[in-house]
Amino acid sequence: MISCPCGCLPSLSRRGFFATALAASAFPAAAFAADPAPAADPGLIDDIVTANHILYDQGVVDGFGHVSARHDKDPNRYLLSRSMAPALVTAGDIMEFDLDSNAIDARGRTPYLERFIHGEIYKVRPDVMAIVHSHSPAVLPFADTYVKLLPMNHIAGFLGAGPPVFEIRAGAGAATDMLVRSNAIGKALATTLGSSQVALMRGHGSVAAAQSVKHVVFRAIYTEVNARTEIQALSIGKPTFLNDKEAAAAMKTNDGLVERPWALWKQRVASK
Ligand code: MN
Repeated sequence: MISCPCGCLPSLSRRGFFATALAASAFPAAAFAADPAPAADPGLIDDIVTANHILYDQGVVDGFGHVSARHDKDPNRYLLSRSMAPALVTAGDIMEFDLDSNAIDARGRTPYLERFIHGEIYKVRPDVMAIVHSHSPAVLPFADTYVKLLPMNHIAGFLGAGPPVFEIRAGAGAATDMLVRSNAIGKALATTLGSSQVALMRGHGSVAAAQSVKHVVFRAIYTEVNARTEIQALSIGKPTFLNDKEAAAAMKTNDGLVERPWALWKQRVASK
């Protein structure tokens, strides 16, 4: 690949030259832990960017909140925007992290303080390929009162028997700023999430996990929608929720249908 041994090629950084030169010698390429994995699928990057815009358009994120995906070429890495408002994210803002949430090649970009949410969930949930963290407003009453968020209809079957609630005081004390700003707090959150698709975060928001970017966008949006409808139902009477079997069966059906709303949501943000 490199024909010039003196490193004078203008397009090649010093670090890139040495890495390539050494990789071609006796040193294994893996010795360079900070080197990027093979580039992620551009289609995946595009989905992450679109997901950021959709989640803003649908009222799940505002200036805050984020969505990540596991790297399609390396399960020990994930992709997440630099610290910025989701609606403004472009492909060049998507950073790569290892599962301890160290940036692989930050290039001056500042990561989100709460990226540890993502890394720690990816560590313990090999089935999870995408994660949304948000402060979506209708979910907060459930996070703060411990009233169960339960599936109002089939679309929200992924809520199952109700998301667990993460209490940051349990592991990090009663004087934090509520942020998941370390691997230790992220690990505690991942433990609370367990095998669920959604966890609420007391005094903060929620997190949704799924097998793809499209599925996690679906779950984040319908967690918020379900919270709104449940509050409405609780104001007029006692709702009958889906039971565990109905919820599981509905989730299975809906998991095959996420392309339909995704196409709609994507068109909305593309036309703006
Ligand atoms: Mn947050």
